[in-house]
Amino acid sequence: MDLAAPPSQLPDSLRLRHHLYIGGEWTPPADADLIDVENPSTGELVGQVPAGTPADVDRAVAAARAAFPGWSSATPAERSAHLDRLHAALSARADDLARAVAVELGSPLKLATRVQVGLPLTVLRDHVALAARAPVEESIGNSLVVREPIGVVGAITPWNYPLHQVMAKLAPAVAAGCTVVLKPSELTPLTAYLLFDAVTEAGLPPGVLNLVPGTGPVVGEALAGHPDVDLVSFTGSTATGARIMRLAADRIARVALELGGKSANVILPDADLATAVKVGVGNALLNSGQTCTAWTRMLVHRDRYDEALHLITTTVAGYRLGDPFDPAARLGPLVSAHQAERVRGHIDRALAAGARLVAGGPDAPVPTRGHFVAPTVFADVHPDSALAQEEVFGPVLAVIPFADTDEAVAIANNSKYGLAGAVWSADTDAALAVARRLRTGAVDINGAPFNPLAPFGGYKQSGLGRELGVHGLAEFCELKAIQR
Ligand code: NAD
Repeated sequence: MDLAAPPSQLPDSLRLRHHLYIGGEWTPPADADLIDVENPSTGELVGQVPAGTPADVDRAVAAARAAFPGWSSATPAERSAHLDRLHAALSARADDLARAVAVELGSPLKLATRVQVGLPLTVLRDHVALAARAPVEESIGNSLVVREPIGVVGAITPWNYPLHQVMAKLAPAVAAGCTVVLKPSELTPLTAYLLFDAVTEAGLPPGVLNLVPGTGPVVGEALAGHPDVDLVSFTGSTATGARIMRLAADRIARVALELGGKSANVILPDADLATAVKVGVGNALLNSGQTCTAWTRMLVHRDRYDEALHLITTTVAGYRLGDPFDPAARLGPLVSAHQAERVRGHIDRALAAGARLVAGGPDAPVPTRGHFVAPTVFADVHPDSALAQEEVFGPVLAVIPFADTDEAVAIANNSKYGLAGAVWSADTDAALAVARRLRTGAVDINGAPFNPLAPFGGYKQSGLGRELGVHGLAEFCELKAIQR
């Protein structure tokens, strides 16, 4: 294979990884089949990892099962100390991790450094502290209610935040006393390899964390349907989430699902419009729109609508597409040719349905190499239209006018999804009142920052359960009532 990314972008040691990590060692897979890893900015091949098989999953689940009695009975202090060592080993690899995310996903290096790597390092550090606390126990009448680790976790993750999505599962699982088999996305597996290099260095007990890369239909299905996996913790599309539930159903395995979204950004008439639009556009386009919580529907009061459209088009014009290693580039490519095609299909269908294009679109210039799609904005989008209802997962914003707050809330809640949202107003009480009426797992008022200790997850078809903080940790525990 001809590997393309220059060594300054990706360490050579990372590019040809032909082993799995099972039972505390790097071990060859059952089959020799490999998955090619592509650089979406250039279309070039940059790495290879094994295409795992059900036999590999069996071996990894057995290792996780064998490690469970020891790890689940380790003290909070021991688990915390292991996570602390993992944090140190991972922090030492922060630059390599950011470059790996920039190469295999296409995130601009600044975003890759600050968010793609910075956030999971924060989450891991938070779990050093969470793990150190004794599990919460409570007395209810004559019962002592205790929390116990759920068992072996099958973690299946997507490509859009390849380290964060893994960390949001792995850190709480380990903190709670569970053992894990991870299947990262086949599109971005190199980041997971760097993480497991850190796992090796940190010296976690064999079998606590195991890595089996591979495709969804092969390794993902084998893991979700495995009789010895107690919890399938999945992040990805709603369609795959439904499939995971069916695979887990026969054995009543627990599932935790973080799925898609179509979040509304509600801008009330008294908002600071310039800030609301700037932050709102930035949120919708972050990571080339490949963010599950992206505010992809911007709802603007009719009194400020024309002003908002002008601000939106001016803001979008300032976004430069380019190579993730070009400091001037604000947006990278989409992760794959397939994903870029999907997004272009959404744009074409919106145009065919008569939506009003105000920025970007199929004819806007993009770099000739790589899977780039221009940031695209449609105005006057009908709340029931496909563009307002379907998750695009690309740099596409739908702008929708509203006449009053009740209509804004109705439009915002007119979705099968319920992951996130935003409200902007000079009156924070009024914004809070609207936030309470939105049927979503999170709402940000006036651009308030992401809180990695707050519960993260969705209503409706955006998922089941929560990740992060104490509520995320609880997903990895069973409750036991002991009567005395
Ligand atoms: P996807 O569902 O195609 O894949 C996610 C993971 O599931 C991958 O590892 C994939 O290999 C695996 N998979 C695919 N088919 C499978 C099967 N039949 N059985 C078991 N595993 C299978 O999603 P994606 O394209 O990687 O990610 C994009 C989607 O993820 C978007 O819809 C996005 O909204 C969602 N997402 C949600 C969150 C969240 O926290 N709510 C976060 C990130 C992404």
